[in-house]
Amino acid sequence: MLRADSRGAAVQKPGPDNPDVTLITPTSPMATPTHGGRAKCLQRLVRLNLPVPRTIALSFDTVHQLAGGYLPDVSDILSNFEDRALLCVRPSSEVPDWGGPGAVLNIGMNTENHTALCARIGSPAATDIYLRFIQNYAVNVARLDAGIFDEIDGTGADALKAALSVYEDEAEEPFPQDPAIQLAQILRSMARAWEGTSARLLRQAKGAPVDAGLGLVVQQMALGLGSGECGSGVLQLVNSETGLPQITGRYLSQSQGREALDGGTASIFLEKDPRGPSLEDLAPEAFAALKEHAALVRTRLREEMQIEFTIEDGALHILDGVRVERSARAALRIVVRLAEDGIISKQDAVMRIEPRALSELLHRQVAANSPRDVLGHGIGASPGAATGKVVFTSEAAQAMSARGEPCVLVRRETSPEDIRGMHAAAAVLTERGGMTSHAAVIGRGLGLPCVVGAANMRFQINRRALTATDGRVVKEGDEITVDGSSGQVLAGSVEMIEATLDETFRTFMSWADAERDIGVRANADTPADAKTALHFRAQGIGLVRTEHMFFETERMTPMREMIFARDPKDRQAALDLILPMQRADFLELFTIMQGQPVCIRLFDPPLHEFLPATRAGQRELAEALGLPISDVTRRVESLSEYNPMLGMRGVRLGITVPEIYDMQARAIFEATVDAAAEGVTIVPEIMVPLVSAKREVELVRARVEAVAAAVRAETGEAFGYKLGVMVETPRACLRSGDIAEHSHFLSFGTNDLTQMTYGLSRDDAGRFMSEYVRQGVFAEDPFHMLDTEGVGELLRLAVVRGRAARPNVVLSICGEHAADADSIAFCREAGFDYVSCSPFRVPVARLAAAQLALTDKMQYQSA
Ligand code: PEP
Ligand code: MG
Repeated sequence: MLRADSRGAAVQKPGPDNPDVTLITPTSPMATPTHGGRAKCLQRLVRLNLPVPRTIALSFDTVHQLAGGYLPDVSDILSNFEDRALLCVRPSSEVPDWGGPGAVLNIGMNTENHTALCARIGSPAATDIYLRFIQNYAVNVARLDAGIFDEIDGTGADALKAALSVYEDEAEEPFPQDPAIQLAQILRSMARAWEGTSARLLRQAKGAPVDAGLGLVVQQMALGLGSGECGSGVLQLVNSETGLPQITGRYLSQSQGREALDGGTASIFLEKDPRGPSLEDLAPEAFAALKEHAALVRTRLREEMQIEFTIEDGALHILDGVRVERSARAALRIVVRLAEDGIISKQDAVMRIEPRALSELLHRQVAANSPRDVLGHGIGASPGAATGKVVFTSEAAQAMSARGEPCVLVRRETSPEDIRGMHAAAAVLTERGGMTSHAAVIGRGLGLPCVVGAANMRFQINRRALTATDGRVVKEGDEITVDGSSGQVLAGSVEMIEATLDETFRTFMSWADAERDIGVRANADTPADAKTALHFRAQGIGLVRTEHMFFETERMTPMREMIFARDPKDRQAALDLILPMQRADFLELFTIMQGQPVCIRLFDPPLHEFLPATRAGQRELAEALGLPISDVTRRVESLSEYNPMLGMRGVRLGITVPEIYDMQARAIFEATVDAAAEGVTIVPEIMVPLVSAKREVELVRARVEAVAAAVRAETGEAFGYKLGVMVETPRACLRSGDIAEHSHFLSFGTNDLTQMTYGLSRDDAGRFMSEYVRQGVFAEDPFHMLDTEGVGELLRLAVVRGRAARPNVVLSICGEHAADADSIAFCREAGFDYVSCSPFRVPVARLAAAQLALTDKMQYQSA
């Protein structure tokens, strides 16, 4: 039995004997977690006194019981509606994105109702409604094959008779005439559809919990059929693509259609339009009311909503309201306008945008509806999309770019030799590598779309061919599109949407910054990176990878000469060439950053990255060094390491060949003095990479101090500096107490730390990572998402031990994880001072950090 609430609305207590079947009134108990978003939204529309047809809501519990075979008293439900009213049932899940079974319309349609409707709205329209209902019911409720109606021609009385007869033959019973039976079967079938395996898996893929519930709403239909202006449509007040104010939607007029098409519908403009009649012309009062209602809904529901409506003999009915679909760009404009109009708070606006969605604004993207002809896929390592002609070498990329033609550089993997090619390319595709491989790191730094680890395609670099997963062969010069956001490689060109960094973006980010309580710096190696970092309001540079400054050919050669030098004298000669370049590099970075902190990491080159890999490269080096090629080949062999990532890298090089770090320290200090002369005061931060023992820091520190003293004496200028350590080996984490004694700061390099903690090659893991994730070995690629359990335990331990030894030690993270919201949450909890990420990810990190701070604040307020 239904019971009544304080205003006489029918409600019942939940349970098999007392299902929760509630008439939606302003006061009936209705909540999104129990009845779903649609039911709650309808109640809000009812509270606004909008002309919403009578609606009943079934709770999640009740629908769950329905799926299990229990049926509420349907005649009780029907007693809420007018006699012979047609009804519709729609799903009401907690989050609209989780989907649900399709709506079923015109329930209650039977032979008796058909006769009555023929008299009211004419036989063609009435018959059309009945026919469509029979077919819908047959397929979705009686589960008959849709093909059984294929032979039926036309839409008239004969067709209707044939449809009823086909139904009876196939279902072995007549089409149900009793509205109670129709409704009961439809409710049960929708409940079961929700609990079916494929629907469950689909919504879980969208993030729904296993036991997500479904509510159902049963609404009396406003048919939009009659003798005056009749029809149905949707209206919204913003453009879904741009987010700018604009009345958009559609209106299908039955009356106009009937005149023109004998029973059909006609698509009509909403607002006055010189091209033809509009809703505004046909039903001016209803249209004015509709606009007013839409504006009221926006203000009171604090959201841009699409209003579904019907017009019946000129009278307006509001059937539903759903959140307006929106592009990433529109989403930002919508929340900023809502906040500027005083409808929501700035904090609310900040909370409403998913940080990752910002990436879509910072890069060109494949347009959402554009068809995708997929050739293969890999790891989307740097977001954004670009189209270009395929080239297989850096030289070809440079030549192509010199001709002004966009190209995609396709390599097995990239190395410093490819840097010029990467600069010239519109996108990069590699067979090998993961989120922290060379191509990925450089791609993100340059804001270049990049897909790595596409091992499901065949890369024949020497034959200049790339074979797609389905066997199609792409040759040099063929056009492809690399979508670094999805990881897909597409044939040909596709429609794109441009990046947008407008005033709205800046306003929004300033609101986020007002809430943020952890610093965000950028990893930047070049003046262009630094400018991007500043443009995105990074609070300094958290990592300058100085070896990246030597990827240009004219710099690579002196660098190689230095590496190849056989004795200190030759090495010093090469270093003397490099010193002024480095000094100029640092001065430029200091000047661009206008006194903001700049943390410079001393050389950390896995040596193999600087050795010429090809015969041609070795010949070039032999020419530059004036040596026979055999000498170069022998030296390359002697310097080759079995495991370069664990070899002569970082501080190990700094200690065994100390002149390199001496030169870098001198360049940093001289640039500091020069910057001061130009009015930019800076306290440079010098970072020592790949440390695993305290003694390494002591040794480097002593030499850096000596260089500082020498530069002070030579220039007569005073300056300060900070020396710190990049903590990226497990041992450095364990011994961070010792290490912190000599370090102003500890910056966690989670790329190498992840590699070494897992014993997982950051350059090769891409080959099997998707399989590992698919089989649930890793929940996610640990180079992508910080492993807060294993690697995280080391980090926590290092923080405690480091802080105990030196309470004011500055803590940060500079691995590729730094822009990720979960990593930032971890860093805030562990008390880090800042995170440092690729320049293009700075806005993402700023927003993620702001949302975490706001969430804490809200929890604090509600506690
Ligand atoms: C790291 O290891 O996390 C890091 C930031 O340094 P790189 O990626 O240059 O090794
Ligand atoms: Mg590292």
